[in-house]
Amino acid sequence: MEGLESTTIASLTRNVMYPSAAVTAAAPLSTPATPATPATPAPLAAARDLRAMLPDELTSWVAAAGAPGYRAEQIFRWLHGHGIETLEAMTNVPATIREALEHDHPLVPLTQATVQTARDGTRKLAFRTHDGRAIESVLIPDEDAVRNKLTLCISSQVGCAIDCRFCATATLGFGRHLGAGEIVAQVYRATALAGRRPTNLVFMGMGEPLHNFDNVSRALALLEHPWGAGFSPRRLTVSTAGLVPGIDKLGALKPAPNLAISLNATTDEIRERIMPINKKWPLAALLDAARRFPLSHGRRVTFEYVLLAGVNDSDADADRLPRLLRGIPAKVNLIPWNPFQGPEFQRPSAERIRTFQERLRKAEVSVYIRSPRGDDIDAACGQLAARELVTIAPRA
Ligand code: SAH
Repeated sequence: MEGLESTTIASLTRNVMYPSAAVTAAAPLSTPATPATPATPAPLAAARDLRAMLPDELTSWVAAAGAPGYRAEQIFRWLHGHGIETLEAMTNVPATIREALEHDHPLVPLTQATVQTARDGTRKLAFRTHDGRAIESVLIPDEDAVRNKLTLCISSQVGCAIDCRFCATATLGFGRHLGAGEIVAQVYRATALAGRRPTNLVFMGMGEPLHNFDNVSRALALLEHPWGAGFSPRRLTVSTAGLVPGIDKLGALKPAPNLAISLNATTDEIRERIMPINKKWPLAALLDAARRFPLSHGRRVTFEYVLLAGVNDSDADADRLPRLLRGIPAKVNLIPWNPFQGPEFQRPSAERIRTFQERLRKAEVSVYIRSPRGDDIDAACGQLAARELVTIAPRA
């Protein structure tokens, strides 16, 4: 990812402010090509986290510990099938093995701090990491009771380095990557809270998942394994602001999950202003990556498009979008901008949103409007900022 792994894009672009949504002047952004400040590394503990170990790693550990091979499957099932939170809960695993595990690979805790329920039934789960950082996940029940879908939106980083102008998470800056164990723990906590496994998982919470590729791909493997939660890759969606090398790496995974791209503009000029990452990977490169992404029969790339009044919601935008997507099996999700304190963007009127959708429809684009879910508790797209927890001091 050409330096992105160890740097924060935010540090390069954060000083350039857009005082209003009327982004007409040319943006004097420095080009985010060279690394600046090193990112805070994930704490060491995350590397040893028992919950982050893949079945073959557990199998090797079990063999080295001189225990029978079936213990690896037992341990994995407890962690990823039952979502246990303490080693003592592994009742059929001998204490000697549990103690050895505790020594070599302690379970890194993810403490559930609060749950807020929105009027529409959406629930926001706030967590505290072992080093006192705050992250959030959002459980979104389907409005259609018959389909009975339950979508869980999970975080991949503490804060975010990408600095999209319209996003609340960006205002936190970059904290650190989440370990794979911390990513999957959100799923198991939400499962316990909901009383059932989510049907769909989307990496659309805090952070840029492809900036944390290694931990996210490991989390996908953990979630898909039949010994554990056994999610079908069709039920997993990774959303990106447009990290092109990461998209290629995601597409090379076997199996690959679904891809969502936060497109949000139809010209490089506008996209650069609202998403500085576009300087590094402009629209043409991004759409080429989408074209290369392997899609099995019937699958499509999702394009998210945050509608910002007067910025990217014109008829000209609606007419350019289908041309950009030509040749890509695509679905477009229009997300009317969700407000938060800070930037002076505005959500377009309901009529503008409908007209925008209609123009796309006429051009035979599959297009949906994402109604804001959980916005009364700041759980809607782009509102996650874990503010109430950021002041909690790290535990000793
Ligand atoms: N970093 C990844 C994952 C986050 S997904 C990505 O950018 O795809 C969060 C989605 O919400 C993105 O599509 C983003 O464009 C959108 N979003 C961010 N802020 C928003 C806001 N205030 N209102 C509506 N959507 C927003």
